[in-house]
Amino acid sequence: MRIDVLTLFPEMFSGVFGSSILKKAQEKEAASYNVVNFRDFSDNKHNTVDDYPYGGGAGMVLKAQPIFDAVDHIRSESEASKPRVILLCPQGERYNQKKAEELAKEDHLIFICGHYEGYDERIREHVVTDEISIGDYVLTGGELGAMVVIDSVVRLLPGVLGNEDSPVLDSYSSGLLEHPHYTRPYDFRGMKVPDALMSGNHKLIEEWRKKESLRRTLTRRPDLLDSYELTPAEKKWLEEMKKNQ
Ligand code: SAM
Repeated sequence: MRIDVLTLFPEMFSGVFGSSILKKAQEKEAASYNVVNFRDFSDNKHNTVDDYPYGGGAGMVLKAQPIFDAVDHIRSESEASKPRVILLCPQGERYNQKKAEELAKEDHLIFICGHYEGYDERIREHVVTDEISIGDYVLTGGELGAMVVIDSVVRLLPGVLGNEDSPVLDSYSSGLLEHPHYTRPYDFRGMKVPDALMSGNHKLIEEWRKKESLRRTLTRRPDLLDSYELTPAEKKWLEEMKKNQ
């Protein structure tokens, strides 16, 4: 997957792209990153990328020209027929794992990180394919949002995570929150690991994990159960849990 990021603060990305899974993904050639300062595409002599809003009011507006030209340039280099152009914005669709899975199927993603009060609306209307918000709060710029989306997408690309880190059981991927984990020692300050995990019986361990995953989802995110298809056994467990709540 090719990933381009349009930003006024390219230096923010060096730590994120140069560490952990995102770095490994590049080493394994599953992903390549290209961070572009869109100020370089400004066609005026002062290299400005923002201007006052028509109609007056507070704050500055990101101009259409540098973004249109930067995206045109990236598209002209792209091997993908239609790269997705993602605008980070608090007014966009709220980001979730389903969207990460959808984006992970693409060959080329272009992220536009805003700053200032807003974007010239023509960017939204004519360049962008997706508007994404990472939550109901306002950030100073789109960079942190782009990092969140890129990290969650790249870890899903084939070959990026080892088998042992498979994303299939992660919270949200399965439709439920993940079960609790324990590691050595068995007894830590009198707090012991649940018997099922110590049993060596794989069926029992699987059942314990499934039940705890359901319990966690029921107590923390019951809304997820509305769109989760329960097996008959899971339905029975859930009814018992609800009775004992
Ligand atoms: N005035 C804008 C509004 O009310 O919608 C907010 C602008 S915000 C200060 C500046 C930039 O930060 C946005 O253009 C966007 O790129 C980014 N941003 C802020 N909150 C975000 C969020 N929840 N998700 C994604 N990007 C966000």
